[in-house]
Amino acid sequence: MRAWLRRLGRKKIVMIILSVILLGIVSLEILSRICPVRPRGNLSCAVLIARYVPSGMLSQYGYSNRMFMPDGSVDSAAEVLKDRVFEVDGRDIAGLNGIACGSYAFVSRSLPQEARKYVALHEAYHVAGMTSETAVNYKAGANEPLGMVMTVIYSLWYGASHTAPWDYPCLCGGDWRLLKTYFMGMGRG
Ligand SMILES: [Zn+2]
Repeated sequence: MRAWLRRLGRKKIVMIILSVILLGIVSLEILSRICPVRPRGNLSCAVLIARYVPSGMLSQYGYSNRMFMPDGSVDSAAEVLKDRVFEVDGRDIAGLNGIACGSYAFVSRSLPQEARKYVALHEAYHVAGMTSETAVNYKAGANEPLGMVMTVIYSLWYGASHTAPWDYPCLCGGDWRLLKTYFMGMGRG
């Protein structure tokens, strides 16, 4: 093996590695474009707010149920974290890790503890007015680095365990799409 590698030469080995990486990226890009975005189950901010937000709080912070969209409120993420992030049954948010709805945020109880902290902060930044997924991701990740890593690992595991093996290529395409959105400043958000 070593003799074979030596005969091949360093330049060629580098070229082969680069070609494999490039081919991988091109394949993921194609998959992410041709695979349909997987439909989420029923997901309604109105239902979440009605189920989890105490009525006293609704009169204080209002009843806005715009998904992912902040109210334009000037509250800081720390302010939101204090009492407006609710841990919910994973089925109520259709398998998402968390979601921001108007003045409130919801985090799946199924996540590992560290990941819950990260997702809570992530959604709190959305409620506080930040819309860019990449910016929110890095900002929350800087405060909860372990939680961010746990969230990524949990999400990959969750996707793989809820997908039939023959759908794995499209799962990879979807994960690539998420990687671009959350880490590379491309795509939604
Ligand atoms: Zn987000």
